[in-house]
Amino acid sequence: MSLAPPTTVSLGDRFARELPELAVPWQAEEAPDPRLLVLDEPLAVELGLDPAWLRSPDGIGLLVGGVVPSDAVPVAQAYAGHQFGGFVPRLGDGRALLLGEIADADGGLRDLALKGSGRTPFARGGDGLAAVGPMLREYVVSAAMHALGIPTTRSLAVVATGRPVRRETLLPGAVLARVASSHLRVGSFQYARATGDLDLLRRLADVAISRHHPAAGQAERPYLALFEAVVTAQAALVARWMLVGFVHGVMNTDNMTISGETIDYGPCAFMEAFDPGAVYSSIDSSGRYAYGNQPVVAEWNLARLAEALLPLIDDDQERAVALAVESLGGFRPQYDAAWSAGMRGKLGISADVDDAVASTLVDDLLPLLTADHVDHTSFFRALGAAARGDSEPARLLFLDLAAFDSWVARWHALGPDAERMDRVNPVHIPRNHLVEEALGAATVGDLDPLGRLLDAVTSPYEERPGLERYAAPAPQDFGAYRTFCGT
Ligand code: AMP
Ligand code: MG
Repeated sequence: MSLAPPTTVSLGDRFARELPELAVPWQAEEAPDPRLLVLDEPLAVELGLDPAWLRSPDGIGLLVGGVVPSDAVPVAQAYAGHQFGGFVPRLGDGRALLLGEIADADGGLRDLALKGSGRTPFARGGDGLAAVGPMLREYVVSAAMHALGIPTTRSLAVVATGRPVRRETLLPGAVLARVASSHLRVGSFQYARATGDLDLLRRLADVAISRHHPAAGQAERPYLALFEAVVTAQAALVARWMLVGFVHGVMNTDNMTISGETIDYGPCAFMEAFDPGAVYSSIDSSGRYAYGNQPVVAEWNLARLAEALLPLIDDDQERAVALAVESLGGFRPQYDAAWSAGMRGKLGISADVDDAVASTLVDDLLPLLTADHVDHTSFFRALGAAARGDSEPARLLFLDLAAFDSWVARWHALGPDAERMDRVNPVHIPRNHLVEEALGAATVGDLDPLGRLLDAVTSPYEERPGLERYAAPAPQDFGAYRTFCGT
């Protein structure tokens, strides 16, 4: 491992210093022939990194973990997690490294981490590697989520390593450089709790409070307040997913952050035809993480966080359980409020309209969308035109025209605000067939489709001439879409 000039970038080692029990110092595997595929220049600037330097051999060295500043202590993080409901006490970063923390332009700390940087002591049977396609998928989808205004980890860069990765076939390998407000997860707390070391659990909670939820530190019961802050952040986050039709695909507790950012874009997908049962992940055979289950799963995951925090909440464990249950009870009303407010925005319904009227309208709409397999994104955008008096684009999406006409007449009578709708109903989402097209081309060396897709999804609310195909659902022959995990 060689060292970059320390003036270029400074990486903190706060996680490694404050939580050594959760940090295994490690280094990235060498990338034989690193080539930068994509770099988020505005994000680099936000982090105080010079994009031109990041494109240089030293910069690319940092992005694959081969050249790190002298002050950095790269670590693999330990965490546990419930995977599809079953508890695994020791997961951890099997193919990821936290390089360290960067002070961003706002004075906050951001983690700089790598994914696909080689085996670590947590790798179990895995090869520690990642292929170009899945790392670019995380890059594209996280960029889209950020542009949609949804809290997410960010992707700074994807670098092809020059090392082949064995999956079903041999694929080109890559490393993703990921930026997050932190990588603390529900599973981090489960790990700390399972060690039985209460001092560690308390230090972890204190780090989470200071980094993400500082107001909790002032509360009468700081650790209960931390839990409540995570409940609030996750209720808001999952409501945003639901409003945009995002299916995370693998909501294990190790993939749920304490910050409230979306993390770990594996078998994720944006739903096209509205369907509460929509599942895309090839390994989610029971539909545990189906679109419509996401709020319930989030609540279940938060219950696991509460269990981990119990010893900090009150010395009397019965009392701690009662307090945690009461706080967890805040999830549903907060989720419902966020979702209802979001739906009002999507339908352009003003605050003057009675809650009961608005919610009946929504309740009557969803079965129509489901029955007619209506494209979620196209529908809400087309409804903007309907608010301006042209219902035809929306009407074309339905089979049961009488049901649509009757619903639209009720909705239109409320005087929907088309401009407000256009600000919240995206035109461009990373549609599955477009993502596959871009990833497939990039895997064989053609980055143009990726560039065009990124251009579309990073201006999600803007209709632009020439980008029509980025606004259309998949062609019929695209078939049932499946995504794969851990690849
Ligand atoms: P995920 O479901 O992608 O969040 O990953 C779950 C766990 O599997 C984490 O501990 C990952 O670090 C680990 N993992 C996934 N893929 C690999 C791989 N190719 N090599 C080593 N560990 C992996
Ligand atoms: Mg994960």
